[in-house]
This record gives sequence, C-alpha cells and structure tokens, in this order.
Amino acid sequence: MTHTASQPAPPHVEMKARLAAAVQANRDEILELSHRIHENPEPAFEEHQAAAWVAEAIARHGFTVEHPAGRLATAVRGMLRGGRGGGGPRIGILAEYDALPGLGHGCGHNTMAASGVGAAIALASIADELPGEIVFLGTPAEERGSGKAFMIEDGLFAGLDAALLFHPCDRNHVESQPLASEDAVVVFHGLQAHAASDPWKGKNALDAMILLFSSVGLWRQQLHPDTRVHGIIQEGGTAANIIPDRTKAWFMLRSPDQADYARIKERFRQLVEGAALATGTTAEVTFSGLAMTMKQNRTLEARWVANAEAYGIVDQGADPNSGSTDMGNVSWVCPTIHPDLSIADEGTPGHSIAFRDAAASPKGDETTLLAATLVAQVAYELFADPALVEAAWAEFRAT
Ligand SMILES: [Zn+2]
Repeated sequence: MTHTASQPAPPHVEMKARLAAAVQANRDEILELSHRIHENPEPAFEEHQAAAWVAEAIARHGFTVEHPAGRLATAVRGMLRGGRGGGGPRIGILAEYDALPGLGHGCGHNTMAASGVGAAIALASIADELPGEIVFLGTPAEERGSGKAFMIEDGLFAGLDAALLFHPCDRNHVESQPLASEDAVVVFHGLQAHAASDPWKGKNALDAMILLFSSVGLWRQQLHPDTRVHGIIQEGGTAANIIPDRTKAWFMLRSPDQADYARIKERFRQLVEGAALATGTTAEVTFSGLAMTMKQNRTLEARWVANAEAYGIVDQGADPNSGSTDMGNVSWVCPTIHPDLSIADEGTPGHSIAFRDAAASPKGDETTLLAATLVAQVAYELFADPALVEAAWAEFRAT
C-alpha cells in the first residue's frame, strides 16, 4: 500500500485495500467465530455446530448456502455470483473446522474456518464489481477420513478455476509437500481351538498378524527414507487358552511420491496375503481415506507470496516435515494453494497443547485476519485477470 495522494491508486491496489478494510470492519464477527469453534471442538465428520455456524455466517453476507452439501452432513457450499455478469472464473474459498479427539483444536482449524469465512465476507463486499462466482466450501474431516475426497466425488469442486486455503503453522511458507497417505485395516480370519488340548486343530490369526508386523519391519530396509508404514493391533485374540480366530490391525501407509505410493500399497497387500498363506488363515484388507500428494501451482504461489510481502511476510521455504492433507486431492482437480502462516513461536509442534492455545491467542487472531485478507486478495487477482487464471491452468496441465 505505497501509493500517494498525488498518484491515483491503480485499480488492483485500491480493490485490495477495500478487501483488507472489509476484513477489519468484520473482525469481531470473524474472531468470535474462531473462538466459538475453538471452545467447542468437534472431531472429523461430527462438526455439526461448526458447520452450522459457518453456514449461517456466509448466508448473512449474501451467499446462497447448501448445508449439508453432498453426502457429508457437515459439508457446506455457499455460492455468490459476481454482479458484472458474463463469464468469469469460479474461485473456491475453502474452510476446515474439525478438531483432534482428546486435544481439541491442536491443529488450529478454527482459524481456517474463520479466515475462510472472513475472505468470503470480504469478497462479498465487492461482489457487485466482480465477474464470475465466489464458491465457499466448508470441508469436514481433514484430520481423519479425507472429507474433501468425498466432496470431489460429489461434484462440489466441479468447474472451479482455483482453490485457496490457508493453514496455521509455526512458520510462514507457501509451499508444502504433504505425503500421500491412506488407512489400511487388516483382518485375519483363522479357526478357534483349545490352545493346550488340541492346538493342531486351530488356524492362528494372531500368528498371521505377528508375521505381517515382522514383514513390514523387514520391508523398511528397502523403503525410501520418506516412506512411512505404521500400525497398531486393535484385536489380538480373546484369551491365552484359545487359538485366536480373528485379529485386526490399523495401518497407515505414506509416501512423498504419488506413483510410488501405488507400488507401496500393492506390496503391502502382498505382505498381508503372504502372512495369510503362511498361517493357513484368510485376510481382508480395506483401504480408505486416501490423501494425495500436493500438485504445486507456482503461478498461484507467486501471487500469495507477493501479496504477503506487502504485509512484511517473508517466505521461509517449504516445510520438510510434512504430514498429509486432503487438500492434496484438491490440487489434482484444479490449481490449488495451501499456504501456511505463523500463529506460534517457531519450533512449536503441531497437534500439541501449545499449538492449540496459540490458535486462540492474540497472534493467532491477527494471523486469522491476515489470512482472510490474503486469500481474498489472491482471489480478487484471479477475478480481475483472466490471463492469471489461464496461466495457472496452463501450469496445472503441464505438470
Ligand atoms: Zn491441520
């Protein structure tokens, strides 16, 4: 914001200043929403209050709201057409709001709900002057279950030209490199027998499970260092004097490379079958909740960095310690950014009490408002500049 009175502001600068002012004018509503969600944490797929509050907020600001949207009871879609008519892009403003069981908002998704709503409110304030359509998407179940994957299947991302979503962090960086990730539930079926009087009549489902864990342990030597395979035994039998006829484990498989992930998944399936073969048991393996790697869009990332620099934010580079997110799935549907802004001192771990407290701190609040402003400003650039939309798509198609 460096223009002076003697030089009329270029239209972009003036419109971006109006978006920033709209966020500030609505700061009480935005931050009240953030704190209300923070104080009422709800886990994945159960975010009934948060989804309702988010839906009410955008409806108040002129959006036509579907809630539920698609098959998920806690998904929300709000749409607001620009007043300039004609064509124009459809820009997705995303919000998450699920919490972690036992920890609350230890990932700070309350700030994502509030900043997404804040960006939507700011864009609504200039909607009469925009072409295209603002599409707000409240996306449940990021922490478990990959809610966005269901919303993609339900067509809720169809026709979007971009998807924008901020995440809180202990650093500022636009690029993240999440791992592909999926849950795998393994069940072995054997045959019960008395473990002392006639064990030879049994088929031991626990032996199969122990073999599987041993196989996975040996397999690690051949895995790329960034690949992760980790699991727990949920059912290991019922009594020491019964040959177990059923065991169950929950694994997660992760890889930094989407194509490599497919090979890892197939190899894991073979290890399960091998353990069943060796023990005369049968196996079922059920995969669910696939979160994909992130397809980077440097065109959109550059716009985020440029807008953030105007607020003194220096990009600290991609975080090498990534988890997984269903925003990755979105990134294979349309040009996507998932930038992080700091709400806590550097080194504060995610999914911790300290990070949870930061998500409702004064610094967390200021970052929430800044994120709302920056998301709205990047969205505005896309509405205002068809060449930028085309450049983002050209990169998407080429990578
Ligand atoms: Zn998160």
